[in-house]
Amino acid sequence: MTEEHKRKISQAMKGHTVSKETRKKLSIARKGKYKKEENSFYGKHHTEETKQALKEQQLKIREKSSKRMLGKKNPIWKGNNVGYTSLHDWIRKHKPKPQFCEICNERQPKEVANISGNYKRNINDFKWTCHKCHREMDGISDNLRKFGKNQKGKTYEQIYGIKKEQQIKKKLCEVRRKR
Ligand SMILES: [Zn+2]
Repeated sequence: MTEEHKRKISQAMKGHTVSKETRKKLSIARKGKYKKEENSFYGKHHTEETKQALKEQQLKIREKSSKRMLGKKNPIWKGNNVGYTSLHDWIRKHKPKPQFCEICNERQPKEVANISGNYKRNINDFKWTCHKCHREMDGISDNLRKFGKNQKGKTYEQIYGIKKEQQIKKKLCEVRRKR
């Protein structure tokens, strides 16, 4: 049957419904067909070899789909590239919460703020902060991201990673004064 032929039949059959009468006839004519001995596979079995091949095929498919859900390819767990929200959730869950904000040491810590700007999946790259300090830290990080370094030539990592709380506090004071 040519493609052209198929297309013509298909067109002719469009909107065509089979009457109840015809369906009954067809049903009777088909009775018993594809059952038992009429099925070409009836009474036959797959060879052990074929069975093994089918099993391996299934395993490969399963392996492929499970691999897709592991590690870097998992849409939820993306290693060091976890989505912003899920990364923060992960940090909140794993970083011990201190009594006070790690920057002002005054207010209650409510959020985890990223230090390096790289959003690493590392609790040491985050600080528990109050809402206010977090906003201010993000403000500073925006500045540093723009210029790479501050006026003294220090990088974000140098200020927040190595220089610890006192330096951050000092920096925050400067920012507060400027505003
Ligand atoms: Zn604070």
